[in-house]
Amino acid sequence: MKQKNHLSSENYFQEAQRYLPGGVNSPVRAFKSVDMPPVFIDHAHGAYIYDVDGNQYIDYICSWGPLILGHSPKIFTDHIEEIVAKGTSYGLPTTIEIDMAKLIVNAYPGIDQVRMVNSGTEATMSALRVARGFTKRNKIMKFEGCYHGHSDGLLVKSGSGTLTFGVPTSPGVPNEIISDTLVARYNDLADVERLFKQNKEDIAAVIVEPVAANMGVIAPNKGFLQGLRDLCTQYGAVLIFDEVITGFRLSYQSAAGYYGVTPDMVCFGKIIGGGLPVGAYGARKEIMSMVSPVGPVYQAGTLSGNPLAMYMGKKQLEVLRDHPEMYTFINQQAEKLAAGIQRNIDELNVPLTVHQVGSLVCLFFADMAICNYDDVMQCDNSNYQSYFKAMLEQGIMIAPAPFEAMFISTQHDDAIIDRTIKANYNALKEAFSQQQ
Ligand code: PLP
Repeated sequence: MKQKNHLSSENYFQEAQRYLPGGVNSPVRAFKSVDMPPVFIDHAHGAYIYDVDGNQYIDYICSWGPLILGHSPKIFTDHIEEIVAKGTSYGLPTTIEIDMAKLIVNAYPGIDQVRMVNSGTEATMSALRVARGFTKRNKIMKFEGCYHGHSDGLLVKSGSGTLTFGVPTSPGVPNEIISDTLVARYNDLADVERLFKQNKEDIAAVIVEPVAANMGVIAPNKGFLQGLRDLCTQYGAVLIFDEVITGFRLSYQSAAGYYGVTPDMVCFGKIIGGGLPVGAYGARKEIMSMVSPVGPVYQAGTLSGNPLAMYMGKKQLEVLRDHPEMYTFINQQAEKLAAGIQRNIDELNVPLTVHQVGSLVCLFFADMAICNYDDVMQCDNSNYQSYFKAMLEQGIMIAPAPFEAMFISTQHDDAIIDRTIKANYNALKEAFSQQQ
């Protein structure tokens, strides 16, 4: 395979490391899992992203999910100068915040109000505070392998021996803070019920990614989300769907609509900002009335509801609302991609598993049913690095770490999917032949 030149990226990386920890502003961008310097991006358009060395790639990262319409669609660029010329932030109310709130409330089942914030992390952190204020309880339950951003109480994994008491996944997170975080096994209702029984009146909220998309992509088993709904109702806990990835991606009604299960609260990020920093949380009025200035739960933000972010988000949501066929298209493209990868796996007889849920696709380096974090940990990722590099060499940008989704946008047409399937064949062949 002809080697791509990454010289400028390598030079920028040297310089970046002097001024930014690890040369990056978010760890996965450092390409550590694939043991090479990161590729620095110059620009992107449609389904393609271009690095500073002039290499073109089909992009399956899509900014980790926000760009469901691909990069720089015309609706974003058309009026952007006018918008910027009107000012980039005021710290006072604007009408576009009402438009955005209306769009979200009208789309998502069971919510009356939303509060805009600036990231998914902020959305989940704030939603949990509100749920605690609402229930007057302290404990929360999350699932091992689900990611909800990097706030202290959520950086926790199950402790050894028992899954009941969590341990911090990062220094700097005090044990006292995560002592109120219970960790359950994804897709395991019996485990959830056990924790409810042990902590009867204490659990304020259960937070879950309705499709787990941060340990690869794992669909909820039939009945899992409804089971969570029922248990939360039974024990008086607030059910929070973290739809930062799935929101407006699985369907215009998000995962709640896709699976027909309505949570008490929802968190958004990514797609609702069209690539600008954004997040939101919402619930029915009774719960949202806890939020300051109406209620006593404090939560604020200098840039919350920022006019640029609202503009991008509004444009993107309006297109999705008015073109339901786009969901049919991206889901079909994802199905085609997954089917093609499956054909390659079968033909090459390599021990891999491909998952696809809506427009999310993921390749696991294990040949088995994968339903939860314990299963994910059975994967042998020793070939991921060679696989990633072989994809990159063929002009395909996938996540520089295993256990991440491939994000399909409306710009991933048939020719692009076919090219990706061919590249996947070559890359798997190369990765697994090196091993033998
Ligand atoms: N929740 C989920 C499901 C996520 O995937 C992420 C980020 O990827 C977050 C929350 C945190 O969002 P952000 O990175 O915007 O803080």
